[in-house]
Amino acid sequence: MDAKCPKCSNVASLNENMTIVTCHHCGFKSTYDKYIEIMTEIATTLSYDYVPNNPL
Ligand SMILES: [Zn+2]
Repeated sequence: MDAKCPKCSNVASLNENMTIVTCHHCGFKSTYDKYIEIMTEIATTLSYDYVPNNPL
């Protein structure tokens, strides 16, 4: 199963038990739980970047 690598944005692979994410491009390896945590963190950071800086 494919996943997106949070480190290099290439295709990482998720093992059959959906417990370990491994990226063969940059060597990233993490548990799936930790991977979700990292991806959520990245999504949050990106959305902060996209929020227009409107002074109130
Ligand atoms: Zn990678």
